[in-house]
Amino acid sequence: MRDNQYSGKDDFINDEEIINHLERCKNPDPIEIREIFAKSRAKNRLEPEETAKLLQLEDPDLIEEMYALAREIKEDVYGDRIVFFAPLYVGNKCINNCLYCGFRRDNEAIVRKTLSKEELINEVEVLESKGHKRLIMVYGEHPAYDADFIADTMKTVYSVKQGRGEIRRININAAPMDVEGYKKLKEAGIGTFQIFQETYHHQTYSLLHPKGDRKSDYRWRLYGLDRAMEAGIDDLGIGALFGIYDWKFEVMGLLYHTIHLEKTFGGIGPHTISFPRLESALNTPYIDSTSYKVSNENFKKLVAVIRLSVPYTGMILTAREQPEVRDQVIPLGVSQIDAGSRVGIGGYEEAEKGYLPEKEQFQLGDMRSLDELIKKVCDLGCIPSFCTAGYRAGRTGKHFMSLAKPGFVHKFCMPNAVLTFKEYLLDYASEETRIAGEKAIARELNKFGATDPERKKSVEKKLKIIQDGKRDVYI
Ligand code: SAM
Ligand code: SF4
Repeated sequence: MRDNQYSGKDDFINDEEIINHLERCKNPDPIEIREIFAKSRAKNRLEPEETAKLLQLEDPDLIEEMYALAREIKEDVYGDRIVFFAPLYVGNKCINNCLYCGFRRDNEAIVRKTLSKEELINEVEVLESKGHKRLIMVYGEHPAYDADFIADTMKTVYSVKQGRGEIRRININAAPMDVEGYKKLKEAGIGTFQIFQETYHHQTYSLLHPKGDRKSDYRWRLYGLDRAMEAGIDDLGIGALFGIYDWKFEVMGLLYHTIHLEKTFGGIGPHTISFPRLESALNTPYIDSTSYKVSNENFKKLVAVIRLSVPYTGMILTAREQPEVRDQVIPLGVSQIDAGSRVGIGGYEEAEKGYLPEKEQFQLGDMRSLDELIKKVCDLGCIPSFCTAGYRAGRTGKHFMSLAKPGFVHKFCMPNAVLTFKEYLLDYASEETRIAGEKAIARELNKFGATDPERKKSVEKKLKIIQDGKRDVYI
């Protein structure tokens, strides 16, 4: 146990300190802002006061500069690849009553369902037939979804091989567990364990998570990823649900969480940060009553501030957002997106036949197919990636951080993006997307050629092997 995890008065989120930082940092001095920009450009994680200054920026020219820098840092640390994944909802039974969620216990309008093994296999077959290789599996909080159940469903998913399709990485978004539970997921081959704190603001957390519910324990959730790390899972995903409290406060909360993980685990911060915005959900009136909804303008700003504050961390933008918003925000530092998503139980198989919105957790904004989005990402000048080599080659946790921080991700991840994208183009793409994709690959090879001709040669060799029929070729 670390850092008064289960007892004591204080945890690492000090609401008053955050509010004071934000108050003190209003009207920041442009000279200081440029110094902060320089620190981010050098890929150093910011301190709370520096992030607070960025959050309080109002000057339109400096905000534009911040956006340009966010793009530059993303390119520098992650390259111009965008990793694709899909969510897979396994069960929506839930013992909690989170006010904002369509799956909450008291919502009788929602149809409750847990996928049977056969249904789970059907879902995975549909996903594989579209070209997906990475999933985030999502579960309500319920005794039926304990660690053994989750590990079993993971094993089932990994076992489904359909034609050339297979799932090579499973991330999990589920209720926080104890160390023993996490160990079972580690054994089943988990990639990232993701927990969103929802809000870091203690009082708001209590208001939205009724007393007596398991989820009402703020501290159990806040330290949930510490326990995952103790169990050996070193790829951690943090996040906040934007729209239930002040967005500036939540960005500060995400930063404090990052600092806590870095300090506690020898420099290993979160592998990813998520920033879902609250969406409408069936029979969930709380959502219309909140006064904290985040405008599109502020959403852009918060994404850029996160990019600058934690330069080495992956950032996930989900299909909750409308297509126009995604197209604008992706270039600001996003490294992972989902596509062709369904957030209902059995949603993929249903979508092949018809659509059952009453099983959805919330309404999705971006309904574009994987193929359409792949083409869009190529048109944005990026390279789609289905790479899952990182964790299979042991490049996680500390190892990942040491590679990601100085920008060496280019050496592994960019070539692997090209290789996995080539597989996609050969096996799943429409003609239009294939043409756009081949152009994107040629563009990327030219870039390799300009900086590292040896790398270009070795990627070309591997592309030939893929063209000849071999799959899962990576560096
Ligand atoms: N039950 C687990 C939990 O609460 O941690 C995991 C699954 S839960 C369905 C995954 C996430 O969905 C939550 O952490 C929350 O941030 C998000 N969510 C809930 N209601 C939402 C809504 N109305 N709009 C957008 N995201 C929502
Ligand atoms: Fe249940 Fe998670 Fe929804 Fe809360 S957010 S009601 S715990 S599924």
